[in-house]
Amino acid sequence: MILGVTGSIGSGKTTVAKFFSKHWYSRIDADWIGHEILKKDKKIQKEMVRNFGSGILDKNRNIARQKLGNAVFSDKNKLKKLNSIMHPLIIKEIKNHIKKIRAKCGKNARIIIDAPLLLETEAKNLVDKVIVVKCDEKNIFKRNKKFTMQQTERILNTQMPLKKKLKQADFVIDNNKDLNDLEKQVENIVQKLNQK
Ligand code: ATP
Repeated sequence: MILGVTGSIGSGKTTVAKFFSKHWYSRIDADWIGHEILKKDKKIQKEMVRNFGSGILDKNRNIARQKLGNAVFSDKNKLKKLNSIMHPLIIKEIKNHIKKIRAKCGKNARIIIDAPLLLETEAKNLVDKVIVVKCDEKNIFKRNKKFTMQQTERILNTQMPLKKKLKQADFVIDNNKDLNDLEKQVENIVQKLNQK
């Protein structure tokens, strides 16, 4: 069983996926995979600089994700370009992770893929069930520690509207209450999946 969890930036995807790991789901984090590629793949680093300029580098000539984000999230074409470079690599790596987990835990291993762009990419074809986490913008802004309000707003504007995501959901999680409530909703889904 492979689950995919998605939702807006800061909606609680990772927190949800971590709750699933308590129920023996192996977690694959698409964002983390993307970060590792940017950190380690010299060829991709060069391609990034070629496309987005050396302004995306930090003092040590590594890619500064914050700077890269600033360069692409205000320009639709640049974001498209970034996605066209990164998505196939991320998906390839997700497939590798699935293979490794299955080799270790068996064909029926429980897996959860935490992917902000699950429904916008081929990643959706890898999952058996889609979970969409919804969260009001006021809570996203309140909880978010990674981005400024302006950056969050900008990223939200580039993402698929929640309504469209919800239409493709097998399960919807409402993350507007506390973490106990969130964990209970995960437990309910686990129970439902166990009954099938
Ligand atoms: P991103 O899109 O940035 O990867 P995300 O959707 O994975 O974010 P999380 O990282 O899970 O979201 O959550 C964002 C922040 O909100 C985290 O600091 C998390 O601990 C906190 N958080 C998530 N859900 C709740 C909740 N129900 N109550 C309080 N804090 C929460």
